[in-house]
Amino acid sequence: MQTIEEALAKLQTSKFRSSFTLKEKDKAYVREKGMDTIRRHAQDFVRQRLAPAVIPNDGRQTPMHGHPVFLAQHACACCCRGCLNKWYRVPKGMELSARQQEKIVNLLMAWIARQMQEDGKPRPPAAG
Ligand SMILES: [Zn+2]
Repeated sequence: MQTIEEALAKLQTSKFRSSFTLKEKDKAYVREKGMDTIRRHAQDFVRQRLAPAVIPNDGRQTPMHGHPVFLAQHACACCCRGCLNKWYRVPKGMELSARQQEKIVNLLMAWIARQMQEDGKPRPPAAG
């Protein structure tokens, strides 16, 4: 079983996944709402958009911007069941358990927390 640290380290090795970052506007939103509220949003998105066994628009259900959690989902490969299957071997066609949903939310929130900590620090140059 992979830890959150291991999952985040692996995601960092993907150019595509590591290209997602929180913009200043997203960070301002997180600060304004607070992490508890953002976690509730993450729980709602995961339950409504990822957890069902059948998702008619799977692969297109997560916008590329508009909410910090959407960015976290792309950065963490938790954007659709296809990516969950590829990265975490989560079977498709089965409803996600409460435990699976919680693990996804924990990963998303860990990613957001890291992004929030990067405030004020110089960013490494973007690869590619
Ligand atoms: Zn995806």
